[in-house]
Amino acid sequence: MTTCYINGKYKPISKSSVNITDRGLQFGDGVYEVIAIYKDKLVDLNLHLKRLKLSLKKIDLKINLSEKQIENISLKIKKINNLKMGIIYIQITRGNQSTRDHKYPKDLKPNIIIYSINKNLDKMELLASKGVKASLYPDIRWLRSDIKSTSLLGNVMAANFAKKNKSHESILFDYDDNITEGNSSSIWIIKNNICYTHPVSYRILKGCTRDKLIKILRTNNLQFKEKTFSTKSLLSADEVFMTSATNFIMPIVKIDKKKISKGKPGPISLALRKKYISAI
Ligand code: PLP
Repeated sequence: MTTCYINGKYKPISKSSVNITDRGLQFGDGVYEVIAIYKDKLVDLNLHLKRLKLSLKKIDLKINLSEKQIENISLKIKKINNLKMGIIYIQITRGNQSTRDHKYPKDLKPNIIIYSINKNLDKMELLASKGVKASLYPDIRWLRSDIKSTSLLGNVMAANFAKKNKSHESILFDYDDNITEGNSSSIWIIKNNICYTHPVSYRILKGCTRDKLIKILRTNNLQFKEKTFSTKSLLSADEVFMTSATNFIMPIVKIDKKKISKGKPGPISLALRKKYISAI
């Protein structure tokens, strides 16, 4: 039985619950992180813990656990559940509030949950060797996508649209027809050997895999630009790929009906995937 951490205690998931007045449940008033466990390691752990701290700061939510303590709990959950591959999920909400008031109340005790899910991330290898299909979908989300908030309805609807269209991911476009990101990933294109991705702004989540890949691009003297690109540029790119904690670097070979890179994963995307995995 999987063990989780909930507000200071380690318990079986089936015996763990939060109160129905939890502000995460009522308002989506909380933040989260997903960290991959691969090759028996917590991948990009420091980047995820740093982003969690930043998300908490952005919504003015204080907790009495340090980054180190969250790291230790995550490692303990991995150990107790004997997890070699999968994810660690961390969720922090503002806490329980029986009076249901939108405003942030004072002195609530945040609900902190950490658990693990067994996932065969090696399955992604086969997907990456063939590349995946994506669908275009309007970016209907709120304007603070930089916060890794548990309010995910826009992302959920986009992901479900992808599912209905037998796609791996939805690629989101804004009112100006520029690509922001995927429903749960950062989106990249390659044109004339230059990698492009959306610049850091309120409109995208600053992906940890994105950050790590930028480091790899820099150390390998590969050209990249943080620059917005249009749907048209996406569809006429030499290569397209997405990055996320569980997909690593995933080539996209078809967007709706349009084939990218002749429908096969591009050589640069595959080389970057290799470099990313060996960096783990
Ligand atoms: N953008 C969105 C909306 C996401 O949900 C995610 C990951 O879940 C990402 C980007 C990629 O972030 P990371 O590379 O940290 O997984």
